[in-house]
Amino acid sequence: MLIDYHAHVNFSAFKNDADDVIKRSLNGGVFMILVGSQINTSRRAVAMAEKYENGVWAAVGLHPIHLEERAVDEEESHFVPRKEEFDSVAYRNLAQSKKVVAIGECGLDYYHISKETSVAEVKARQHEALRKHMDLASELDLPVILHCRGSAHDPEDAYQDILKIVQEYVRAGKLERRGAIHCFMSSLSVAQRFVELGFYVGFTGVITFPKTEKYADIIRALPAERILVETDCPYLAPVPYRGKRNEPFYVRYVAEKVAEIRGVPLHEMENILFENTLRVFSRMVLNVC
Ligand SMILES: [Zn+2]
Repeated sequence: MLIDYHAHVNFSAFKNDADDVIKRSLNGGVFMILVGSQINTSRRAVAMAEKYENGVWAAVGLHPIHLEERAVDEEESHFVPRKEEFDSVAYRNLAQSKKVVAIGECGLDYYHISKETSVAEVKARQHEALRKHMDLASELDLPVILHCRGSAHDPEDAYQDILKIVQEYVRAGKLERRGAIHCFMSSLSVAQRFVELGFYVGFTGVITFPKTEKYADIIRALPAERILVETDCPYLAPVPYRGKRNEPFYVRYVAEKVAEIRGVPLHEMENILFENTLRVFSRMVLNVC
């Protein structure tokens, strides 16, 4: 049994076969949390989760790239994000559903800041939106799912900033449920700072790619009870599906890789990962047992 705690079956990449994808996953013993990135995809995540009696939950939030209007041009995606401001009231209303187990994804993304805009202004807007998400999570007693990506010239800059903000909240006694730093791409020392702050560290199919020894070292060094696995589907499909559309069921390949790295039998690692996910997203427990 596994839980893909970060899936986007609510995205348009699955508009023709979302239910097939979800059923394939549930039949294969993989539960999931559908993660919103804007108000419309957050709404869809909740609606889809509510359709299933068990095994599908939702997170609601505004991804930092949607705070700006600009073209994102990446290997996997060519789209113009729609600009949105974080509306606490709308997201609070959505989070009333019992299926909502986290606030996010929210966070910082300095990678996509376009050259025409003021970097300082964009960063300030991202920081403000992140704080609003964290305030809402504190108020609703939910964990957060954090996205973090540094700039091209300094991949660590956003991680340093997000750590400062998280630390400030934790020290103020807020964010009691903590949360997860998703698709972790930084160093061991940064991962350890998150763990010290009570956070969980999420890994995607990236760890199955060649030349990712850096992540293997981190996975080996972290306490097993703070590791999470995720797909971030439709993106980042693990080997042997690299380059194809990803889906929640493939989280098995990520779990397998974690077990291999740590030298633990797969069923043992799966149990640990399953328990970890239930611990951080504790609202799930209500309808898992
Ligand atoms: Zn995501």
